[in-house]
Amino acid sequence: MSDCIFCKIIDGNIPSEKVYEDEKIYVFKDIAPKAPVHLLMIPKLHIASLAEVEDQHQDLLGYMMRKVPQIAHETGCEKGFRTIINTGDEGGQEVYHIHIHILGGGGRLPFA
Ligand code: AMP
Ligand code: ZN
Repeated sequence: MSDCIFCKIIDGNIPSEKVYEDEKIYVFKDIAPKAPVHLLMIPKLHIASLAEVEDQHQDLLGYMMRKVPQIAHETGCEKGFRTIINTGDEGGQEVYHIHIHILGGGGRLPFA
């Protein structure tokens, strides 16, 4: 997806503050943080949104969910964190490359 900003971040064509990377996923700091820790976890495979997920993506999504608490723990969210996946226009999605927001590190978050 040549016009996808998150694919460009993975490829290094748009700068980002990388927190973690492996063969399947890339994690970086949100450019407009809503909490002291605000990370975005994305798969290297371009999937537009949670609404576009197919059976073949189940292992990848499971892998991401397994990595979330590990990365949260390593980045200052030992006492808890919030995960958000915005999906579609009415879900508030702005970037159409599936991503998990990881928020925390600054006391109890307000009810969402
Ligand atoms: P969403 O509304 O769930 O699609 O969230 C998109 C998120 O991407 C927002 O929180 C933005 O602040 C963030 N974002 C957009 N562009 C960048 C960028 N170049 N680097 C880091 N975060 C970004
Ligand atoms: Zn993409």
